[in-house]
Amino acid sequence: MLQITQAPQSPVLVQQRFSILGVASPFYAGNNLMMTIDGQFRTTGPEINVDGTWQIDFLFQQAGNRRLKIQVGTESVELTIPVVSTAPQARQLQFTQVPTRLPVLQTATIGGTAANFPDGSALILRADQQFDLAKPFVNAGKWQTTIGFNQPGKRVLEIISSDGRDRAQTAIDVIAAQPRPPRVSFTNPPKQVKVEATLTLTGDATNYNNGDQLILRADQTLELARPRVQDGKWQAQTVLRQTGQRLIEIIGSEQDKAQTIIQVISAEAGTFQVQPRATWTSTPSPSDLPNLQPKGITLHHTFLKNAPATNASIADEAARMRVIYNGHVNGNGWADIGYHFIVMPSGRVYSARSETKRGAHDVVNDGLGVAFDGVYSTVTINQAMYNAAVALCTLLCKRYGITNTVTPIPTPTGDFGTRNLPRMMGHRDRVATECPGTEGGRTVRLPDIRQAVNGNLAS
Ligand SMILES: [Zn+2]
Repeated sequence: MLQITQAPQSPVLVQQRFSILGVASPFYAGNNLMMTIDGQFRTTGPEINVDGTWQIDFLFQQAGNRRLKIQVGTESVELTIPVVSTAPQARQLQFTQVPTRLPVLQTATIGGTAANFPDGSALILRADQQFDLAKPFVNAGKWQTTIGFNQPGKRVLEIISSDGRDRAQTAIDVIAAQPRPPRVSFTNPPKQVKVEATLTLTGDATNYNNGDQLILRADQTLELARPRVQDGKWQAQTVLRQTGQRLIEIIGSEQDKAQTIIQVISAEAGTFQVQPRATWTSTPSPSDLPNLQPKGITLHHTFLKNAPATNASIADEAARMRVIYNGHVNGNGWADIGYHFIVMPSGRVYSARSETKRGAHDVVNDGLGVAFDGVYSTVTINQAMYNAAVALCTLLCKRYGITNTVTPIPTPTGDFGTRNLPRMMGHRDRVATECPGTEGGRTVRLPDIRQAVNGNLAS
C-alpha cells in the first residue's frame, strides 16, 4: 500500500518548498522512497517511518505541470503538480463609479473594477447587506449595472464575488425627488413689429399647471397682458404703442422669466416723406432770414379750426397750407409761415419755412417748429399724426445730431431764463401759452413721441 494523504491544492511557485505527506505499508518501514519526475529524472526520496508515514519536502526549478511518481518496492503512486513562475494576482473588487446622491425613482449607472476576475464572472450588487440589486458580469476587468431606489435614505452598497470571498463596500445617499423647476420661454418671437399693430406672442410654460397666470411685461415696468397657462403653453395679444427697442418679458415668478427684444418701428418707417414746399406754393422760403443750427424741436398746434379731414387729398391740404401762410404773412406780418413743418390729420407732413432759417414760433427760436394742424387743447392727435411726428422728429434729430430727446438739460426760455427741458419740448414749456394743448403735452402725446424718437435714435 502506498497513499498520498496531503499535497498542494493550488499551483506552487518555482523554487517554492512544499510538502507531500503519505503513508505506506509498515512493511516498508526504513526503506527510502524513489521519486521519478516527468518520467525521466529519478532521485532518492526520504525514508519511510516506523509507522509507515512519510513526508517529502521538495521544490521544482522549472515551471509547468510536473509529473511526480513515488515508488517503494512494487508500490507506486503518481500526482501532477502545477508549477508557476509568478504568484497569481490577488482578485480585487472596487467601486469606481458611484453617484454620491441619487434622487428616488431615478436610475444611475454604477460600476467598478474586478481585478484578476476572468471575463464572465458573476458578481452580486447588494444593498444594506440584504437586498440583491443586480448580478453584473465581469468584462475586461470591469463591471457595471444600473440601480434605482423607491425610498430616500442612506444605502450601503456591496459588490461581492459569487463565492463570497471578495467584496467591496460604498454608500449612496438616496434623496427625495426634486420638484422639476417651472420654466417659461418665448417661441419664435418677432424681431420687429410695427407700432400699434396687434402682436401675438406665444411660448412654453413647462411644469406650470393649467390656469396658472403669467405676466407679459415691457421695459420692466409696463404690464401688457396676463396670459394663462394651457397645456404647458401660453399665448398673449398686445399692442406696442411706442417705437424703439423694447424689452419684452414673460414672467412666471421672480425666479422664472424669459426675455426677448422687439424692435418697434413706426408704421411709416422707410416710407416717410415730407411734402416739399412746392406742393403748396411757388413762393420760395425767404433766403434773407437768420440761419439756424437747430438745438431742439418745439411742438405746436396751429390752433386753427377746420383742419383737413384724415382722408383729405394733397390738394385740400395744399389749400390749407396757403390759408396758414396767409394768416402768418398777411395777418401776423411775418416773412413766412412761423413753423418749419406742419403735420396734417392725414399724417402727411408739409415743409413750411426752410429748416435752415430761424423760425417764428416760440420766441427763443433756436430750434425747429413742428405744428399739428388743428386745435388740440383737449382733443388728442390721431394715430397717423402721432406716427408722422415720430418719423419726422426722428429724421430731424438724426439730421441735426440730437441724440437724446428725453433727458432734460438747461434750456433757454421765453422769459430769458433757463429751465431744465428735454430737447423735444412743447411751446408752453418755453413761453406762457396754451399751445400745444394740455399741460405736459398730453394732447400731442409729447412724452410718447420723445420716448419713441429716443428709441429710434438708439436703434
Ligand atoms: Zn405754439
